[in-house]
Amino acid sequence: MRILLAEDDIMLGEALQEALIAQGFAVDWLKDGESALEAARREDFDLLVLDLGLPRRDGMSVLAELRRRDNTVPVLILTARDATGDRIAGLDAGADDYLLKPFDIGELSARLRALLRRRAGRARPEIRHGELRVDPAAQRVFLREQEVALPRREYMLLKELLDHVGEVLTRDKLDAALYGWMDEVESNALEVHVHHLRKKLWPELIRTVRGVGYLIPKEGD
Ligand code: CA
Repeated sequence: MRILLAEDDIMLGEALQEALIAQGFAVDWLKDGESALEAARREDFDLLVLDLGLPRRDGMSVLAELRRRDNTVPVLILTARDATGDRIAGLDAGADDYLLKPFDIGELSARLRALLRRRAGRARPEIRHGELRVDPAAQRVFLREQEVALPRREYMLLKELLDHVGEVLTRDKLDAALYGWMDEVESNALEVHVHHLRKKLWPELIRTVRGVGYLIPKEGD
């Protein structure tokens, strides 16, 4: 899961980035509206966390421009507590949710998980697939109700594939979901993660589509 964070407050931005990374998201952080709009148009993000008061282009204008171009990325806006008008305008302009500053990081994470769940068309917070159960809130994975400890990237990869069951995800898409711009990526990192997941869970769980990418087939396929 890859999040674009648009926030010009350095202290808040740093805290948010750190907290979201700890929650299992790949995070790219930009500090002005113009760059955020450009990045959101150029690349696929799963979510945009958008401060409304941004230099170069305010958040409302970024949002309006994205929606005008039929960009459907889920957007959560961050607004000042006293700006009721902004909240209403933001939702009307196509935001999916909002949070009032100052906010609790735990609440932000929970709201982001809810948006992602809705996006994936899932009502239940837990993901079940065969004998596998994933609890995204706790980032814990269970096989036949036995917990399987997965390092961060393996967890992220598994979650990404499970969010798109039956769909082939290209290597580029998976790399983008697992790594932010600042992360160093070894060229065979993806194969290594897939190898480990097959070993720790079961070999047929993840199917290789030669020259394209990977998928978790639908149950029964
Ligand atoms: Ca701001």
